[in-house]
Amino acid sequence: MAYNYDDSNIFARILRGEIPNDTVAENEHALAFRDIAPKTPVHVLVIPKGRYVSFDDFSANAPDAEIAGFMRLCAEVCAKEGVSLDDGNAGFRAITNAGTHGVQEVPHFHLHIMGGRPMGPMIA
Ligand code: C5P
Repeated sequence: MAYNYDDSNIFARILRGEIPNDTVAENEHALAFRDIAPKTPVHVLVIPKGRYVSFDDFSANAPDAEIAGFMRLCAEVCAKEGVSLDDGNAGFRAITNAGTHGVQEVPHFHLHIMGGRPMGPMIA
């Protein structure tokens, strides 16, 4: 089942071009842009262009081409930002927040790609 989607959320507005963003990469199915309040030297958000609230919503409802396009853009971002494992880079952390327990602020599915320094242990 698709979750209720609020077309007024800030990422929907970014996708409609109503507010600016600092784009890192884009393809037919997804957009990647720098987080407006970066927590790490590399902090990029990757969002699908479709109307999905969370990871499970996206996985359950998106056509395979959209899922593949999204994942390929994630890999492109890591390479562009120098955090992929190619060329001896040190890697990254990818996080998605969902719902109240996940403390999701924006109800449009997004993956945080973070790197540029050691992340430390995972915290709850
Ligand atoms: O995962 P969560 O929903 O909690 O995080 C939303 C993220 O979107 C925050 O890191 C916030 O800084 C970012 N944001 C942004 N540009 C906006 C509004 C929020 O990058 N215009």
